[in-house]
Amino acid sequence: MPGLYIHIPFCEKKCMYCDFFSTETFRQYDSFLSALHTEIYLRARLLADTPAFDSVFFGGGTPSLLGDVQLGGILEALHGRFDITQDAEITVECNPGTVDVDSLRGYRDAGVNRLSFGVQSFHSDDLLFLGRTHTVEEAEAGILMAQDAGIPNVNLDLMFSLPGQTPERWHYNLERARALGTTHLSCYSLTVEKDTPLERMVACGMVIMPPEESDAALFELTMQTLDAWGYCRYEVSNYALPGYECRHNLTYWRHGEYIGFGPSAYSTFHNRRWWNVRDVERYVEALVAGTLPEAGEEELTPETQRGEYIFLRLRSEGIDLAEFRRRFSTDLLADNRAFIDHCISDGLLYSDGNVLRLTPGGVLVCDEICVELR
Ligand code: SF4
Repeated sequence: MPGLYIHIPFCEKKCMYCDFFSTETFRQYDSFLSALHTEIYLRARLLADTPAFDSVFFGGGTPSLLGDVQLGGILEALHGRFDITQDAEITVECNPGTVDVDSLRGYRDAGVNRLSFGVQSFHSDDLLFLGRTHTVEEAEAGILMAQDAGIPNVNLDLMFSLPGQTPERWHYNLERARALGTTHLSCYSLTVEKDTPLERMVACGMVIMPPEESDAALFELTMQTLDAWGYCRYEVSNYALPGYECRHNLTYWRHGEYIGFGPSAYSTFHNRRWWNVRDVERYVEALVAGTLPEAGEEELTPETQRGEYIFLRLRSEGIDLAEFRRRFSTDLLADNRAFIDHCISDGLLYSDGNVLRLTPGGVLVCDEICVELR
């Protein structure tokens, strides 16, 4: 089933590595919310007869800067315009330090049943380096408050490959996450994105990033450790206890459809992709004028869909070869026989005859494999 995504573009302060669209200066939440409600209304009117949706994801930015009444109001608007299933997964991304047990209870009463905390590290000096606004104590308290508020399904974002990070320090982060009863973990390596303060710090030698081998070693440590603790890796960077896989993200990784709202949000629906302006003021202006704030669109050709399907499925559950034949009327195995055989003998891919999957070694070169598979 398709999902709904709402981008809340506000942050208390930009983190030095982040290239997501968010602003720390725009504070007119009321005008943003009113524009968002208009977008939901206009989009629903344009897309009459949409199917049922089984996930709603509030991402950002920092959605937890919104109170429960504001968030509940958005959910009410979505329920009023779209068919959202009774058991839909409803996730809110939170920054520790921006929530308390009462606001989380309010989220729960509004229908939220999953939280995702941007913790990144349980070491104070890491948080300082990354420019995060929360403390280790706030991160730990946030997770416990979520459980107290009746939302035990909690993801933590953690970051490895920080300069100078030892395997022991990274392992400690995983241990803390497990000890706190986390059901889901997203473990990403710190990457240097364009036009970020981190890029400038690396360029002038203020920060020295770890070498690729150390990134690969920490990735393998993550896989082995979490596997031993019963967390299943169901996408390159995502691990869940059985039954706690993120339904919304599975929709993305299964090349499913989704409709996004808010500045910079992307949508993929009925073989078309469109995206909104990356600017809160222009977003609000467009909607005040009664127009949708789209910045661009593209038709998803069969070739584009095929390439995206390979990329997304190989990174997650693997490519179901029969489904691939049905969807694209071509035989992936036959078309790429020599390359696939080569990857299998090199220990990068494996197949049970029905599904083609990456081995742990293949995960490290996933992008290179996807480029070759056509
Ligand atoms: S809180 Fe999240 S979205 Fe905001 S700047 Fe930091 S990493 Fe980016």
